[in-house]
Amino acid sequence: MESSSNPTEPLLRGSCNCGQVTYVSSMLPFAISLCHCINCRKTSGAPFVAFGDYQNTALRWHGSESRTKPTIKTTSSAIAIRGFCGDCGSTLFMKYHCRPDVTHVAMGTVDDGSVVGEIVKPCEHIFLKEKAAWWKVSDDDDGIARHKGFDETFQRRLEEWEAKGSPRRASC
Ligand SMILES: [Zn+2]
Ligand SMILES: [Zn+2]
Repeated sequence: MESSSNPTEPLLRGSCNCGQVTYVSSMLPFAISLCHCINCRKTSGAPFVAFGDYQNTALRWHGSESRTKPTIKTTSSAIAIRGFCGDCGSTLFMKYHCRPDVTHVAMGTVDDGSVVGEIVKPCEHIFLKEKAAWWKVSDDDDGIARHKGFDETFQRRLEEWEAKGSPRRASC
């Protein structure tokens, strides 16, 4: 089993805008997707959201359990949960029910100067069918896959999960 990181020395730190929610990761994201879906646009107020993919086991969140009011507020849709700071509203993460071992954390929350090593380049634009009309994907984005919705592998995973009867989780 490969392990290049010491869990006591995180390779990356992040936080919401107000600082009530922080996290550390013992790994760097293994992939980054740029999502143009309307839910990402509306919840973030940005033309798209860059999500870094982490194994849940690499992440340690702080600020979610020590207060009477939950600091991380979640919303649940049929296919995913989204996490926000309950105080400032920052977009923090997504988790898909069909991929429960992975957390997709908003890259904008990564703290400057905290990264040990090199962050991978984004690998794909997804949900271009819902892209903001005024936003043009740069011609410089060579080598970054472009998908109308999810990429094919994830779409298959989602459909397999749905075929099992979409065991919809209780909303948080
Ligand atoms: Zn906050
Ligand atoms: Zn999205």
